Amino acid sequence: MTLSTLKPRGTTMLAGEKAAAMSGEFVALCPTCKAVQTIWLDNDRLTPTRKFSQHSRHVYHDCGSSEPCRLYRTY
Ligand SMILES: [Zn+2]
Repeated sequence: MTLSTLKPRGTTMLAGEKAAAMSGEFVALCPTCKAVQTIWLDNDRLTPTRKFSQHSRHVYHDCGSSEPCRLYRTY
């Protein structure tokens, strides 16, 4: 009976933007100029990278884009 209430939360966390802090290597894609670059995050903090800056949890390209870069995890 109790087992039915213990649903795994993995899928929920993957879908949420505010899941666990991100660390590791990511590919940043600028939605404005389509620039692609590998960046590093350490507990959501951007490792200083040329042409990219971080504001709150978003990474922005220095081309003037007002849209945050999309981040893709690499393996
Ligand atoms: Zn850009």
